[in-house]
Amino acid sequence: MYKMMTPGPTMVAENVRKARSMETGNPDLDMEFYDFYKETCQLYSSLLHTENESLILSGEGILGLEAAVASLTEPGDRVLVLDNGVFGKGFADFVSLYGGEPVLYTADYRIALEAEPLRKFLEQDSDFKYATVVHCDTPSGMLNDISTICPLLKEFGILTVVDSVSGMFGNEVRVDDWGIDILCGGSQKAISCPVGLTLVTISSAAKKAMADRKTRIASFYANLYIFKDYDKDKWFPYTMPISDICGLRQALENLKADKDRLKRHEEVARRTREALVRSGLKLYADNGYSNTVTVFTIPEGITAEQLLSVMRKDYNIMLAGSFDVLAGEVIRIGHMGYNCTEENMKETLQALNGALEKLGVKLKAALAY
Ligand SMILES: *Cc1c(COP(=O)(O)O)cnc(C)c1O
Repeated sequence: MYKMMTPGPTMVAENVRKARSMETGNPDLDMEFYDFYKETCQLYSSLLHTENESLILSGEGILGLEAAVASLTEPGDRVLVLDNGVFGKGFADFVSLYGGEPVLYTADYRIALEAEPLRKFLEQDSDFKYATVVHCDTPSGMLNDISTICPLLKEFGILTVVDSVSGMFGNEVRVDDWGIDILCGGSQKAISCPVGLTLVTISSAAKKAMADRKTRIASFYANLYIFKDYDKDKWFPYTMPISDICGLRQALENLKADKDRLKRHEEVARRTREALVRSGLKLYADNGYSNTVTVFTIPEGITAEQLLSVMRKDYNIMLAGSFDVLAGEVIRIGHMGYNCTEENMKETLQALNGALEKLGVKLKAALAY
């Protein structure tokens, strides 16, 4: 296998793989599974510092984003879509799909969202049912400071939907302190599980907004409200992927036991950026660097494809290019979850140094961790 230093999916710990291979019962009929599911959700909530209920849904990270939008949006609802990245903008499509009216607040893609201009905007217009914001916009590695953005939105009475699929567990997230009504996560980023699960935490205000709807939620699979009494009724809307959830449980236990996790992510990310800058490579963003992914601009004279291919073929390491407006422009190094170790980054930077040399790129200094 190759080393997967991509910003998701990430590599998976052996004890998580083993947990997924255990013999299992029937997740519909076995009452103990309801407890196991609920306890796993509670563990997830506690790691994100919230009293809010969490749900594990069978589906990749995108399902969580769609479910949040599907469950909150009624035809004609105005929704503020904070856009300083590809995922940020992408929320507008979901809002339209469910009959809402997305209002884009577009800001510089190289700068983290700033509170003051947003406040000025909200002072003019704050008639929104909810707002969407991306914590770490993975295609550019942009980290938005949701600890100031979400409380600001709440000040104006706006519910907050946060995509922290690639942000959480490598960057701090405090759901209750920051007023996050629906937080979306996914199994395959810093949680370091295989692809296949999405997780949402839901505040009582968000639940109330769902309960107060005049129209039905226009989806079954993406309906969060349908889980309302799952524990009381011992009923899930569909059969839960029990093996995936066993793996998730182990991965969450791993996160809980890893006391230096945030410090390590901060340090690995900082030292990676410093190494790139020392060598003369250019980081994509001007600020707002996430601890989970580092994004640099393709140096002149080579293509992203060439660099990715040499890394893969000659060094057995997979890095990622990007997509949408950033396709072909940048390379992304993922250092999140189980991938985020000094050892992995040492090897990756050494390989990157060799690959750039082979392609004839002159660096100011050798890339070294
Ligand atoms: C990975 C990710 C998702 C999930 O979608 P993918 O299909 O894996 O791209 C959603 N939001 C963000 C910010 C992500 O990084």
